[in-house]
Amino acid sequence: MNEATSPVRLLVHGASGRMGQALLRLAAERDDIAIAGAVSRRVEARVVDGIPHFAATELAGVPPFDVAIDFSLPEAFDAITQACVARDAALVSGTTGLSPGQRQALDQAAGRIPVLWASNFSLGVAVLHELVERAAAALPGWDCDIVEAHHTRKLDAPSGTALTLGEVAARGGAQARYASLRAGDIVGEHTVQFTAAGERIELIHRATSRDIFARGALHAAVRLRGRPAGHYSLRDLLD
Ligand code: NAD
Repeated sequence: MNEATSPVRLLVHGASGRMGQALLRLAAERDDIAIAGAVSRRVEARVVDGIPHFAATELAGVPPFDVAIDFSLPEAFDAITQACVARDAALVSGTTGLSPGQRQALDQAAGRIPVLWASNFSLGVAVLHELVERAAAALPGWDCDIVEAHHTRKLDAPSGTALTLGEVAARGGAQARYASLRAGDIVGEHTVQFTAAGERIELIHRATSRDIFARGALHAAVRLRGRPAGHYSLRDLLD
């Protein structure tokens, strides 16, 4: 079996979390992915459903992997980036709230390995980007406000998705303002609102399942394996 046909050996970083659990469940349904290991802050069982689990402190000892998918926390991000560089493996990350220094470290890693960081892995949000940029360009002088809502355990605000939407609006010439709501178990909602005297446009994306993000990340992982070092976007990896 050559690399193109053998399953991608995947390391899931942040495995015990909401996203990590969705990734493990959905990866198990695919025959183009083999889970090499799962890393969390702490481990309760060494092997779960045949998958070896490791604590963060054991990262250096995980089995060989081709790609790591990281949905963890900013404090865990440096270690997985360094591990991917050390193993010459690709990195797919959706961890939000990264510092400017961590974004720089990601740029440096992209000089050595293939890297894809995205604030949102859903197809719907990718399309929302295009709509927002067009609306911003077509509505000069209108107020642009991004309102996001997430579950109460989300640590960063505004969300990474909201900040990226703001960057997209800026490309169209609008300067966005942000408002954040933390309530209940909301998976993720983003409203980009353009307002002028007497009228308003609202572009809304509502995520009702984390599976959309997990599927996008798994799709990216399969397509990132074996590529040259560099920064990739979801768009680069779409069919
Ligand atoms: P969570 O709190 O449920 O899970 C966090 C995971 O990180 C846990 O497995 C925890 O054990 C692990 N972790 C914490 N510290 C660690 C360390 N030092 N070393 C290794 N692992 C460590 O969080 P979540 O809801 O799954 O979200 C994770 C991240 O993904 C957040 O930054 C969130 O904003 C982001 N997110 C991104 C997208 C996207 O599409 N890009 C979608 C959803 C969530």
